[in-house]
Amino acid sequence: MSYTATWADQKLNANEISKLNEDGLDVFKDLPELVKKPFSEIDKSYYMYFKYAGLTVQKPQDEGYFMMRIKIPGGRVTVKQADHLAWIGRTYGHGVVDLTTRQAVQYHWIPFAELVDIFAGIEAVGLTTVGAEGDITRNIIDNPLSGIDPDELFDTRQTVLDVYRRFQGNYDYSNLPRKFKISISSNRHNSGNAEINDLAFIPATKRIGRHTVKGFNVKVGGGLGMKPMLAQQLNIFVTPDRVADLAEVVCRLFRDYGYRRSRSKARLKFLIKDWGVEQFEDKIRESLPDLQTKGVSKVRGWTNGTALGVHRQLQDGYYYVGVSVPSGRIQADDFQALIDVARKYGKDEIRFDHCQNLMIPWIKEEDLPALEAEPIFERFSIHPHLLADYGTTCTGAEYCNLANAYTKTVFKPLVEELDKRFSFDSPLNITLTGCGNGCAHRSIADIGIEGVHARTADRQHTAGYKLSVGGSLLDGGHFNEQLKGVVSAAQLTDAVGSLLADYRDSHEKGESFYDY
Ligand code: SF4
Repeated sequence: MSYTATWADQKLNANEISKLNEDGLDVFKDLPELVKKPFSEIDKSYYMYFKYAGLTVQKPQDEGYFMMRIKIPGGRVTVKQADHLAWIGRTYGHGVVDLTTRQAVQYHWIPFAELVDIFAGIEAVGLTTVGAEGDITRNIIDNPLSGIDPDELFDTRQTVLDVYRRFQGNYDYSNLPRKFKISISSNRHNSGNAEINDLAFIPATKRIGRHTVKGFNVKVGGGLGMKPMLAQQLNIFVTPDRVADLAEVVCRLFRDYGYRRSRSKARLKFLIKDWGVEQFEDKIRESLPDLQTKGVSKVRGWTNGTALGVHRQLQDGYYYVGVSVPSGRIQADDFQALIDVARKYGKDEIRFDHCQNLMIPWIKEEDLPALEAEPIFERFSIHPHLLADYGTTCTGAEYCNLANAYTKTVFKPLVEELDKRFSFDSPLNITLTGCGNGCAHRSIADIGIEGVHARTADRQHTAGYKLSVGGSLLDGGHFNEQLKGVVSAAQLTDAVGSLLADYRDSHEKGESFYDY
């Protein structure tokens, strides 16, 4: 990608200057030679290129191990692909597979010297790590139930694949100012979490001539992180066959006009904030002048992209089973056991949702009793707990270089204890992140917990946690509000418990944390 005129007005940050010298996607050309060297000889300035291969150098940073993420558009894999995902966890990842909030999977302890072979194996089953991280289009998320969902306007699987193919490995869009996140869903309960994505397609209908056409309204400029912003609606309606064209125009505007001076202000949301959605839309229409104005939204609620429990599919006689994976971390052998259940009862498919859980679709009604009796379900609930099974956590201090606090090891006992103390009429979402970056969706949780640096009474550094309440993506979205003070790990259960007790005692039936 060459230097564009609009970038010339900006003082470029160090990553931007490096990207002008070598494209991020070229990491795959470098790797066969690189892996012959000791990892200690790799200059740290090269680490950003590993991101384009879905790799983050794991701490301690000089030992040559990576966190590796695999892209899974729409979160759907075949059982053969899932076998390979489990095998990677067993062979390289210390027996562990982590599920992400973008329907992907990731691993830790991936060894530098083995990367070429690992990538060849991933490619051989039709998956990829290309662009799973880096300043590029990230994993495209979909309604986890697309194609089998009684609550969707239409099947979005092909649209997701069209957009994925437009961008995947495309050197025209491999040098963006930062990551670019796309959500596509026609589920009536906003299962694509539209408002926290850079570009989101939400279900809508439009009267065109004598026909009512199904398609999408469009939102732009959302994102979490230190400065969370909700995506704003454009006055645009688009049919499924034009989604990839529109996504390309939005991505091109981001590429050419996005900010490249400070990485903390480089997401599309900052450009939209400065320009306003009207000016951004004018720019889109310069390229696509025939786009319709927005249609009638079909969004009626919000599920946070979760699909837990046993439910009827769109197709008569079939059910899907949403299996809770607490904290989003599963042992590779347990994952394999669930894959084998899918192989035995399902139809060659496993899915991942947006809350770090997995789903087995296409279970015949008559097979449900036998499936539920499978031993793996003694440890993985298909009858979800209302706290433990709806929350999410990020990687945290165990592996993340930016973390202030541990997450997964703190979260699991926390929510399990709270599930013993409380019972509610509907699920509540508790989300724990190790810092303010929001890799799990802390800002839209009923109760968000963020790890911060704190000090003990004798001034020693320790991990603390800040609490926020009332996040939601209902009605266009509302970020939760931070409470005063910091609690220690030892105080966390009682602190969150007192918020839940207050909610239990004060809310009206059906009121969420956001409402009350
Ligand atoms: Fe790391 Fe912070 Fe992201 Fe958690 S939210 S994975 S601690 S950067």
